[in-house]
Amino acid sequence: MFFSVRILGANSAVPNKNRFPTSQCISIGQEKVIIDCGEGSQINLSTYKIKRGKINHILISHMHGDHVYGLPGLLSSLNLGGRTEPLILIGPLGIKEFIEAVLRMTYVNLQFPLEVKELNHSSGKKLIESSSLIDIFAFPLKHRVPTFGYLLTEKRRLNIRSEAIQTYKLDISQIMAVKNGEDIVSQEGKTIPNAELAQWTIPRSYAYCSDTIYDPQLAPYIQGVDLLYHEATYLHELKSKADQHKHSTALEAGQIAKQANVKRLIIGHYSSRYDDLEVLEKEARQAFENTTVVQQGDEFKIE
Ligand SMILES: [Zn+2]
Ligand SMILES: [Zn+2]
Repeated sequence: MFFSVRILGANSAVPNKNRFPTSQCISIGQEKVIIDCGEGSQINLSTYKIKRGKINHILISHMHGDHVYGLPGLLSSLNLGGRTEPLILIGPLGIKEFIEAVLRMTYVNLQFPLEVKELNHSSGKKLIESSSLIDIFAFPLKHRVPTFGYLLTEKRRLNIRSEAIQTYKLDISQIMAVKNGEDIVSQEGKTIPNAELAQWTIPRSYAYCSDTIYDPQLAPYIQGVDLLYHEATYLHELKSKADQHKHSTALEAGQIAKQANVKRLIIGHYSSRYDDLEVLEKEARQAFENTTVVQQGDEFKIE
């Protein structure tokens, strides 16, 4: 099953040409999840030909403008596009009031059901959504305002062994039964146990941590994920600025990846002061080698 992260924007604070603020589109099978929705997000949904109709969840980390100013525009466009499918919007306390006020003041009457879920837990990792394909967890980050990180974990499913279909000449109903975990009876009348016909997939996972101060308490929440996005607003030489604004340095992003024993780290939310993003990547690699600094438009496949 296809599982990827597309970067729609990765800048912090002020947008500029080719450096839109934070937004990502996660594709899992046919489902699409938007994480954060800074200004310009919907422009890049078009640029990268992402089908908006497939978006079923929008997750917002916190209520700073570089993460939410694109949201009312996106909802309005979905409405204009004739959406009737429900949409689930999740974010910290205040997101409901924000979106209702902007839509009301700009005369937008949504023609599709928008279910808004507000998060308000101050510790621990909580399961907040579950579809047939994924589980979504939220955990608090440490920033200047209430902020949440997200963990998307693929559900375990049974994959039929291709040779089993041929060996036992399985028909469609038998294939469905095997995928549901059942044993089957062969043409010779012998019971074939499910374990011989199918195997469980190893669930893949993606974690998103932006914006946050360096916080080793995050490590258990994101332990062993296949792909981690962690903010890296500054180089470590500006550590005091990072602490003051409750952001992380590239080196600290690498340290979190190492502590959490993740497979791969991607970093973003860099300050506009950095034209050369490779310096951030180089610094994070001092702590965690398998690091990539993201650029707008990049797509990371989770395999
Ligand atoms: Zn931010
Ligand atoms: Zn922020």
